Amino acid sequence: MGADSIRRAAAVVLLVLGSAALWWARSGAQASASANDAMVAAIAAAREHAAANDPRLKAAWRFEEGGWIYVHLEGDPGAIGYQHGYLLAPEIEDGFAAVSAGMMHSTERNWEFFRKAAHEMLWPKIDAEYQQELKGIVEGLRARTGSKLDVDDIVAFNGFEELPDYYVPWLNKQQKAANAPNLKSPGNCSAFVATGSWTKDGQIVMAHNNWTSYRNGERWRIVFDIAPKNGHRILMDGFPGVIASDDDFGINRDGLMVTETTITQFEGWDPNGKAEFVRARKALQYAGSIDEYTKIMLDGNNGGYANDWLLGDRKTGEIAQLELGLKAHKLWRTKDGVLAGSNWARDPKVLKEDTPEFDPNNKESSPNARRARWEELLKDNKGKIDVALAETMLGDHSDTAQKKEEPNERTLCGHVDGSPRGVKEWEWQPYYPGGAVQGKATDSAMAKEMLFVARMGHPCGGDFLAKPFLAAHPEFAWEEPYLRDMKAGPWTKFRSGQASKE
Ligand SMILES: [Zn+2]
Repeated sequence: MGADSIRRAAAVVLLVLGSAALWWARSGAQASASANDAMVAAIAAAREHAAANDPRLKAAWRFEEGGWIYVHLEGDPGAIGYQHGYLLAPEIEDGFAAVSAGMMHSTERNWEFFRKAAHEMLWPKIDAEYQQELKGIVEGLRARTGSKLDVDDIVAFNGFEELPDYYVPWLNKQQKAANAPNLKSPGNCSAFVATGSWTKDGQIVMAHNNWTSYRNGERWRIVFDIAPKNGHRILMDGFPGVIASDDDFGINRDGLMVTETTITQFEGWDPNGKAEFVRARKALQYAGSIDEYTKIMLDGNNGGYANDWLLGDRKTGEIAQLELGLKAHKLWRTKDGVLAGSNWARDPKVLKEDTPEFDPNNKESSPNARRARWEELLKDNKGKIDVALAETMLGDHSDTAQKKEEPNERTLCGHVDGSPRGVKEWEWQPYYPGGAVQGKATDSAMAKEMLFVARMGHPCGGDFLAKPFLAAHPEFAWEEPYLRDMKAGPWTKFRSGQASKE
């Protein structure tokens, strides 16, 4: 018996024992209800038993470490999807509930609206390969849990960064909708990529922390190791049920290192374009150079989840920034420099045409205050930057507007729940439960070995506790069913092909 077979056999034994225990536990209760429950459990166990023996699962596995869930997915697109859906089924169900509730709450649209957008607008332009993967997710999910979610649900869910905050405001404008909610594109993340004389060994260093609501962010804990039939091997962080990294941080076997921060107050959407989550996944899987990456992101650009992409090519030591607006875009590249992001656009044309409301001169705003901090912090450490230093930088609490140490909405490690100001540019009200939810870093040498370090929770190591927060802020009571504690884990190393905790 190989390790995989043992793992599968163990899973089956656990399932059978589990359903037997369930049967036994309930046998004392009302006889008829118990018989019915037992039958349901037996059917579920039989379904899971059959699914666990599915040959598509043979090459896949899952383990947990440091607060992260690592999954290895391998094979053709349908198999990768099936493995994803099966191995992460409980997390997908849970993540879907939290994310869909947020999408409906902010847009005041029902779920049927998002299903329709997914079916009619997004699906026809998704490459066949990713259509098969998305269908596979549904199949794997259903095999494991008997889930009622279908392909339209999963596609709408994959569009969670682009449908509510890009498509809906565009649609509201088209329809001249009265009393439409004031929706703003998100501002996700603090990141940098450095090379040449800026780093300790002259090679590339890349680091990123994900800014989002704690509700979603606490669930953004997957490490995906993907060995696709076509394209390059991928190691990336991600969200259960979503085929792109989506926050984004990833490396591929052909030497590309990828991250981004989102463009604040971006406006625009092209309903005829290709979903961003598809382009981003495709670019990480197929690009082996900065030029190829740029080409894939521009092909069918729909304006969704418009980002400043920070790229590195470990084969050449070159880094780049692709500021990807819809009407305008710009690419900067260098073999000796540092490129940082904290949710601001800088190309005059992108600023004018794609972010008409953004004020690049307001030093008090979260994007600009963090921009100033990146500039001083990176300059102070020129020639010394490595992964260990990057970890510290991701947890930095220096507020350049107030010139003091205080974790808030203006610090690289964001804690907006502590800010009476919130972030008005993103429609994050005062004390919004959001900020930096996890961090990752890597360098050229590590990327060559296909590995990165990651920390779940605030990169500074601070914990967020839901109960006292909700008691102090009843205005966020609607989040109560979904908002959980977000405790920081240790910085943990993950590598491609890793079979278990190391
Ligand atoms: Zn912090």
